[in-house]
Amino acid sequence: MTVDLCPSRHPLDRIVFTGLIKELSGVEKPVPLAIAITGRWIDRHPADLKWLDSLVTAGILSIVWINHSYNHYTGKDVPLKNNFMLAPGTESWTYPDRK
Ligand SMILES: [Zn+2]
Repeated sequence: MTVDLCPSRHPLDRIVFTGLIKELSGVEKPVPLAIAITGRWIDRHPADLKWLDSLVTAGILSIVWINHSYNHYTGKDVPLKNNFMLAPGTESWTYPDRK
């Protein structure tokens, strides 16, 4: 399963993850996930990142982190060719050495 957390300005909805763990841990443990994040999300969600990391350390989740740049833009009505990672101005992630 793949999750893109980048657009969220709200705290992480942990029930999504706890629900997945509850449903899938009987089939595969750790539960494999791929999570797309931006440097901006990391800056704004330190407690959520720490919580996800603790689940990895505990052997509950296996996370492949997907680099979605420092900050990519999204537009509800913007065509896909100019949206998300293809939005003009999206640059590769240089965190933590960004300018
Ligand atoms: Zn993203």
